[in-house]
Amino acid sequence: MDDLRKRAKELLETSAVKVVIGYEEGTAGKTRALFAEKPEDTGKLIFDSRCVQNLAAYVTKREIKEKGRMAIEATLPVMRSIIQLASEFQVTDNNLLVLGITPESKLVEFSNLADVETFVHQYQIEIDARNREMLEKLDKMTPSERWKFWIDELSPCFKCYACRAACPMCYCSRCTVDVNQPQWISVPSNDLGNLEWHFMRAVHLTGRCVDCDACYNACPLGIPLNLLTKRMIEDVRVNFGGYQPSLKGEHLLSTYKPDDKENFIQ
Ligand code: SF4
Ligand code: SF4
Repeated sequence: MDDLRKRAKELLETSAVKVVIGYEEGTAGKTRALFAEKPEDTGKLIFDSRCVQNLAAYVTKREIKEKGRMAIEATLPVMRSIIQLASEFQVTDNNLLVLGITPESKLVEFSNLADVETFVHQYQIEIDARNREMLEKLDKMTPSERWKFWIDELSPCFKCYACRAACPMCYCSRCTVDVNQPQWISVPSNDLGNLEWHFMRAVHLTGRCVDCDACYNACPLGIPLNLLTKRMIEDVRVNFGGYQPSLKGEHLLSTYKPDDKENFIQ
C-alpha cells in the first residue's frame, strides 16, 4: 500500500484535504481507525484482510467534519456506505475524497462521488454462503420457533450500542432508544425491550444497510444481529428488485410506486 501512503501524504502536504481516514495497526493483532492530519502520520496507513471496520461511520461525525475536507481509505462496503450517505445529503464532493481499494486490493482515486457510484454498481451485494444457509434455516422454522430463536439470541444483549456506533447508517444525533421523555423503547435490557431495539433498528436500515457486517463484528457477545438486516436485504431483493445505494436518492421506505406489491396488506 505504498501508493496509498504516498497519495495520502501528498494530499495533506498540499492541503487538498485536512484529514485522511484509514486503517492502522492496533493492539492484539487487530487494526483500528487512523485519522492522519500530518503528512508524517500517513506512514502508518495499512490495508489487509483484517481491515473490515466500516470507516464510513466517521464521515458524519461532527468532530471529524469540523477538521475540513476529508479523504477516506474505502473498501467496497465503505464506498457503498458513502454513496448511501451522499444520497441522504450527509457527504458531498466538497467535503470528501474517496481513495478506493478495489476487491483486488488496488488503489483507485475517484475525482467525484458519481464515479464512486459507477464503480460500486459493478458489484452486487452478495450474502455469503454461511449466512444464506442460516437465513434458509430461519425461513423453515415455524413462527413460534423463530420467535424463540430471536428471544434466545437477543436476550444476552446488554444494550452497549457498539453495533450502532459501528454502523455508518446510524448517524442520528439522538437515537430513539436514548429518548426517555417519552420512552418509546425500554432502556434496561430485557427480552421485550431487546426485541424492540433490534427490530426497530432493522426496519430503520431496510433499503440502507450495505451488508458490511461491521455491527456484528463490533458486538462483544457475537449476537447475530446482522441476520435481521440480511433478511431485509433479501426481502428487498425479492419484492423490490434489489437494493443498490444510489445518488438518485430513491429511498425504499420513502418512495411510493403504483406497482409496488401490496400483498402484505391482508
Ligand atoms: S446494519 Fe450492520 S451490516 Fe448494515 S450497514 Fe450497518 S453496520 Fe453494516
Ligand atoms: S453490540 Fe451486541 S450487546 Fe451491544 S447493543 Fe449491539 S447487539 Fe447488544
